[in-house]
Amino acid sequence: MVDFSFSEEQKLFQKSLREWCQKELPLEKIREMDSKGEISRGIIKGMTDMNLLLMTVPQEHGGAEVDWITACIAAEELGYADLSIAVPVLFLVETSWGFVMDKYCTEQVREEIIRKAIKGDAFIGIASTESGGGSDVAAIKSTGRKEGNSWILNGEKTYISGTEEAKKMGGGYFLLVRTAPPIPEASHKGITAFYLPINADGVEIGKRLEDMGRMAISTGSIAMDNVKIPDSYRIGEEGRGFYLTMEGFDNARLLIGATCLGASQRALEIGMEYIKERKAFGSPIGKFEGIQFDLADLWAELEALRSLVYRTAWMNEEKYRNKRFTPHEVSKYISAIKLKVPPFAFKVFEHVMLWLGAWGYTKECPLEMGLRGIMSYYIGAEGAVNIQRIIIARELLGREYIPYK
Ligand SMILES: Cc1cc2nc3c(=O)[nH]c(=O)nc-3n(C[C@H](O)[C@H](O)[C@H](O)COP(=O)(O)OP(=O)(O)OC[C@H]3O[C@@H](n4cnc5c(N)ncnc54)[C@H](O)[C@@H]3O)c2cc1C
Repeated sequence: MVDFSFSEEQKLFQKSLREWCQKELPLEKIREMDSKGEISRGIIKGMTDMNLLLMTVPQEHGGAEVDWITACIAAEELGYADLSIAVPVLFLVETSWGFVMDKYCTEQVREEIIRKAIKGDAFIGIASTESGGGSDVAAIKSTGRKEGNSWILNGEKTYISGTEEAKKMGGGYFLLVRTAPPIPEASHKGITAFYLPINADGVEIGKRLEDMGRMAISTGSIAMDNVKIPDSYRIGEEGRGFYLTMEGFDNARLLIGATCLGASQRALEIGMEYIKERKAFGSPIGKFEGIQFDLADLWAELEALRSLVYRTAWMNEEKYRNKRFTPHEVSKYISAIKLKVPPFAFKVFEHVMLWLGAWGYTKECPLEMGLRGIMSYYIGAEGAVNIQRIIIARELLGREYIPYK
């Protein structure tokens, strides 16, 4: 038999997080953070108290060591609360990239960033994308050159989440650079991952980009001019950075799916409340089939995607804990999530805004924040939609069908 219910511990966690969010992240506060362009320090501290930061990291490294289903519950609750999607971004970027960094880094890096980030005293992000493009990770141009027991880093990363937060909180990035020339037919080899401290000599943070959404968390660029770091900042083996990055992307994409479920659920609830009250032509508009059929379709799709997200979270957990599924097998499902859930969430916001009429177009209504925030995941943060299609087709047809090989 299959049991789809959460464990007692997971239910308890969900309840206490919902209560914390109701108290600490009411929609007025979300609006305030969206206008101010920053997540308040108190929220980050509160997230620490709730053991949310890097929550899947093993206890012996200072984390809460929760399973990936619990991490998805957290992402869903934060998405439900913060419709602007900024707090969920902070949560999921740190959880997914902090997990991978912790798994492969040295004890020194753990001391310098992982343990601090768990306490909310440092930020961890991912620095992969460059101005030349983000989808083709193997084409990055930034370099790392070995010099004795150190590495000299050069290049520029852009569209990087959390640059202002890293400046304020300290910490740094899971950085990807090329350390060996590309091998023909295997350009993803020769890429290595490092911990890049934000305050290292030669690191310059560029001007904050003016995004359209998730305003309370920044995006910016990072320039590296002969940045010297010790070999102990290398994450994983030389030349394995591409694979580690794919692992981080998978975890991030899973949490993005859960976040989008939460935001969609909230948008539907806001919509349902409205269509029961709002009258037109003598009836609540929720009585009109044109509206209620739309609601039914969205709800059905939401539940189908929720099943996909949590089943995949279970697979991810089994992959790590019991080696039951191969990473590629899990990636196929995770890419299905990244392909389907953010566009679905965008559709929910769009449709519910239509039910709300003119009110939906104002900033008195929280839905426009969601539409702007969700778009970041739809457009490409942690991977564009066509890249998910390539991954799924690769797993279905075989590697010989990868279009660019
Ligand atoms: C809000 C936000 C925050 C971000 N934060 C970070 C961050 O913290 N760290 C980081 O490293 N990056 C970050 N990114 C960058 C993100 O990873 C990239 O946007 C993403 O990888 C896509 O890269 P690109 O934008 O350069 O688009 P491109 O790679 O140039 O792709 C453009 C379009 O072409 C399509 N395409 C590309 N290749 C193919 C193909 N083979 N077949 C068919 N279609 C194709 C894509 O689907 C896309 O629609 C962020 C992006 C956003 C929007």
